[in-house]
Amino acid sequence: MDSGPSLGHVAVLGGGIAGLLTANVLARYATEVTVVERDQCPDAPEPRAGVPQSRHTHVLLASGIQALHQLLPGFVAELTDAGAPTLSVPADVGVWQSGQWVSRRNPSAPVMTPSRPLLDHLVRKRVLAEPRVRMVPSTEATGLLGGPHQITGVTIRGRAAGRRGEQELAADLVVDATGRGSRTPQWLARLGAAEPADELLDAGRAYATGVFHVDDRTSAGDIGGFYIVPDAGQPLGAIILPAEDDRWMVTLSGPRGQAPPTDPAGFVDYARNLPHDAPHKWLSTARPLGRPVGYRHTANRRRRYDRARAGLLVVGDAVCALNPVYGQGMSVAAQNAVFLDRVLAGAARTPSAHELQQAILRSSQWAWEVATGADSPMPGAVGNALRNGPLDRLADWYLGRVRDRVPGDPVVCKAFRDVLFLLAPPRSLLTSPEVVLRSLLRAPTPTPPDLPTP
Ligand SMILES: Cc1cc2nc3c(=O)[nH]c(=O)nc-3n(C[C@H](O)[C@H](O)[C@H](O)COP(=O)(O)OP(=O)(O)OC[C@H]3O[C@@H](n4cnc5c(N)ncnc54)[C@H](O)[C@@H]3O)c2cc1C
Repeated sequence: MDSGPSLGHVAVLGGGIAGLLTANVLARYATEVTVVERDQCPDAPEPRAGVPQSRHTHVLLASGIQALHQLLPGFVAELTDAGAPTLSVPADVGVWQSGQWVSRRNPSAPVMTPSRPLLDHLVRKRVLAEPRVRMVPSTEATGLLGGPHQITGVTIRGRAAGRRGEQELAADLVVDATGRGSRTPQWLARLGAAEPADELLDAGRAYATGVFHVDDRTSAGDIGGFYIVPDAGQPLGAIILPAEDDRWMVTLSGPRGQAPPTDPAGFVDYARNLPHDAPHKWLSTARPLGRPVGYRHTANRRRRYDRARAGLLVVGDAVCALNPVYGQGMSVAAQNAVFLDRVLAGAARTPSAHELQQAILRSSQWAWEVATGADSPMPGAVGNALRNGPLDRLADWYLGRVRDRVPGDPVVCKAFRDVLFLLAPPRSLLTSPEVVLRSLLRAPTPTPPDLPTP
């Protein structure tokens, strides 16, 4: 008789946030977990080549904070002790949405804003302290072993001099956590297996991020940062948030054809186009610490491994990559691991890779709906996941009414924010009678044109 899940040897490809959190959970049910990571991971909070987005602002949403607390008890306190700011949104942040500031008196929920290298460093330290997790750094996964429906291992190649030959690593379960650039579809094709169906929605959003210093922390008034929310009518976005070590992360973003520049003067100048001058004023008094960096791979892409029965598990951005402007990816990676643990902890036998993959799909479903729902009406959005049927247009019309009431209506604001922070399903905006009545029957409440005081 089976006495619970027993995964044997698990090979996790990619030691980013999704790979490490997955390794941490699977280690509870495995004899050993080997994490194969292409980079030589630094022993300090530093950006690395394999996670190029780590130079951009990374917000950890309320749902991600909760998930990390659950996965790694005490971790949130460690993050705070290392200097990661916690902000209440909207109480601490100037949030501009639907043509006005969101009232800071509306109910708030926390976000954390450590730099991505700090978060990754602390997650790595915690997970690698687990005796059953072993990291193989400077080693690249190059292909899969096995056949259609059953993957039995992976081919790997060292990147350091003298270790460049290809080797085989056998595993009872292979997990792809190699991020947005995952090559698993091609590797499966090489084995004669079907590639997963691809769902794509690309709004063409381009990012640029600069790091800044301000001498006076209160130079933005009593505001702890800014978030200018883009929408179909006003497609420019801005995020100005503090990170550890007195640094401020500033991300500007624009739709297809309106990429923010990466030269320091042009970057600051671009902020003049935002719908309110407060972020530009703030930037003009801040000191840049280096040159801004750009980023363009922001499409929403979901690969339907849950239908493919590929005989391996795919997590994180490798299965569901989201437009970063909604700040969801790390929280979803943490939710992936929480859902895996839930399935494994409740199982009397070892679940199949397919059952685990379905849990991954469920754990990212709200985020996928939020990102594709918000991106569908964006100018220039393309892809087979575009939602533009008659019912979608009706939903857009209704959600437009919800969005317009967020700034001045505390009830609608809380419901909307809970969906955005992945604390509640998107359908809750349609099923809450209070939200529906306020959105359909009440006019939007205007908020003050200058930065609202709490
Ligand atoms: C500009 C930008 C801003 C973002 N802002 C936010 C935000 O505010 N909040 C948020 O939650 N999310 C944000 N995200 C999303 C977030 O960065 C990702 O969702 C998250 O990093 C996904 O984690 P992952 O582990 O799946 O992939 P990654 O973090 O990309 O890690 C993949 C890992 O796999 C390794 N790897 C790759 N190929 C191989 C191979 N062949 N063999 C071995 N190892 C390999 C890489 O070196 C890397 O370590 C943003 C993304 C971008 C692009």
